Formats: sequence, structure tokens, C-alpha cells
Amino acid sequence: MSDKNLLILGIDLGGTKILTSVINPEGEMLSRDHSVTPAAEGPDGVIQAILSSAARAFQGASVAMDSVSAIGVGAPGLADTEAGLLYTSPNLPGWKDVPLRDIIQEKLKKKAFLINDGNAAALGEYYFGAAKGVSHFIYVTISTGIGGGIVVDGKVLNGFKGMAGEIGHMTIADEGPPCHCGNRGCWEALASGTALAKAARKRIETGADTTILSFAEGKIDKVTAQTVQSAAEKGDPIANQLILKVAYYFGVGVANLINIFNPELIVIGGGLSNMGERLFKPAHKVVEERAFNRAYRTVRFVKAALGRNSGVLGAAAFALDEMKRALGEPE
Ligand SMILES: [Zn+2]
Repeated sequence: MSDKNLLILGIDLGGTKILTSVINPEGEMLSRDHSVTPAAEGPDGVIQAILSSAARAFQGASVAMDSVSAIGVGAPGLADTEAGLLYTSPNLPGWKDVPLRDIIQEKLKKKAFLINDGNAAALGEYYFGAAKGVSHFIYVTISTGIGGGIVVDGKVLNGFKGMAGEIGHMTIADEGPPCHCGNRGCWEALASGTALAKAARKRIETGADTTILSFAEGKIDKVTAQTVQSAAEKGDPIANQLILKVAYYFGVGVANLINIFNPELIVIGGGLSNMGERLFKPAHKVVEERAFNRAYRTVRFVKAALGRNSGVLGAAAFALDEMKRALGEPE
């Protein structure tokens, strides 16, 4: 990625926020527009918000819309990369088989590419972040849910129709708690921040002797992963137990990924990764017990480097990649 004249518009569409940026091939963000996703307004309202955000991003970078070469769109949910469709999204009510890529392409009159947000974030870390130069790695983000992307041989694994990499929805416990995807016992239903908060509320409701509530203004609906963490830091045994359980399930999922993909690196991002050793030390123990010894001994774990910019940078990198591939192909 060296042509300095190539500019890309990156769009990271999330369930709550839209991040839009004009990005150069070195991964520099010449502008950054952050706005709220009007999810309740359905596809029309959200697409309008994307277009307004794009206009502000161009303005912020002091470039004309004409000066970008392509647009990369990262979107949450099941996205068909090849057809440019967003099938469904748990975070965007009313979206069903929306031809998002073509709509953006038509409105902004530039070639556009669509990719799932987790896969985009993995690509962001690959080109510009913690996984630079590593051709086999897995990006895992652990926050309200668990998402990620898998890079094999230097290419993000999109699968047959772009739906690969939904690591948060691998079944970890067949009789586990229900997941919003409709299945039960998914990794994110057991090891995410939401799962931790839910488990804590359940323990409180069943009369457990814990101080967690005192970190949540005494209100059960204010119990979050953060409040459980605060209680654990003050030595609350129940809070510690709850985190150990999440760490256990997190480790089981990571061990599965290691045995399937034999990655060189696992990049971990998302709010819950700030828990640090309290979460990762016990999780590592489980990974060590369950993953193939040789694969475990050679994998490295690092923190994600790009924070919230991984998705928008990765969407842009994906567009750039696809453009170059198209240009390199004989007609
Ligand atoms: Zn699920």
C-alpha cells in the first residue's frame, strides 16, 4: 500500500455509532466523523445518516468527494461481501437483505465494498495495528458481545458468502444460556460483558452475599461488567467467582480457535480486555489445558492497537485491497 494519491472513504456502521473517515494508504485518518446511528429509523434513516457523515468526513479532510478512489463499508451482522448485501443485523432492526454496497455506490458515485465489521477490524489490525506482518492470526473483541475475524495466509476469511468469522456464536455449552442470535450457549452468551452482568444479576436476585450492588448505586439494572470488576478489585469473592467463570469460558473458546486455526497471534480488543490479568490469567490456564500443547506454546497474545478505529481502517484497507486486485486482473 504505497500510492499516496489513493484515498479511501472508510465507513464503520455500528448498531449505536457511525464512524466515517477519509484514509490514505498508510492508514492515516485525514478526518474522523463520529455520529449516532438512528437505528430505530430503519435502513432509510441509517443510510441517510451515513451519507451526511460521509459529507462531513470529506469536509473535515478538506477533499472533494471526487478525490477518493473507493469506499469501504464495515457493517454489523451477516454481510454478503460478494453481493454487497447486509442480510440481517442483530443491532439494526428492520434490516433484511439490504443492498447496502450498491446504495452507497450509487449515492456517492464511487466504487464501494462491503465487509462484516469483525472481519474489517481484523484487517485494520493486520494492515495498521497489532498484527502487522503476521499472516495467521485471530482478532477477538470482547465487550458487550464477542466478535472478531480470522486472517489466514494474509487474507481475511470471509467464507463462501462473507459470513465466516462469527466466532462469538460458536457453541461452547450446548445447554447454556440463550443468545440473541436464537441459539443457546454461544461463546458471547457465556464470556462477554453482557454475560458477566447477567450472571451477576442472577446471583444477586437469588440472594448471594455480595457487594456488587454497592458499586451499582444499589440498583440491579445498573449492574455491569464494570461494577462486577470493581467489586472483585475490592476482594468480593462472588464477583471474583463470576469473573473466573467468564474467564473459563473465554479460555475454552480461545482453545477451540487455536486447535482449528493454529494462529501465530491472537489480538484481543474490546472493553473487557481492560480487565487484564484478572481475566486473562485464569483464561490462559484453561487454554493451556485444552489447546494442543505445540500450538499453545507457539501462539502469542497481544492487545489490539487501534481501539475504535480498527473497523473503519479495516473497511478502507479491504476496499483498497479489492481495488488493487481488480486492477491487477487481466480483463
Ligand atoms: Zn449466538
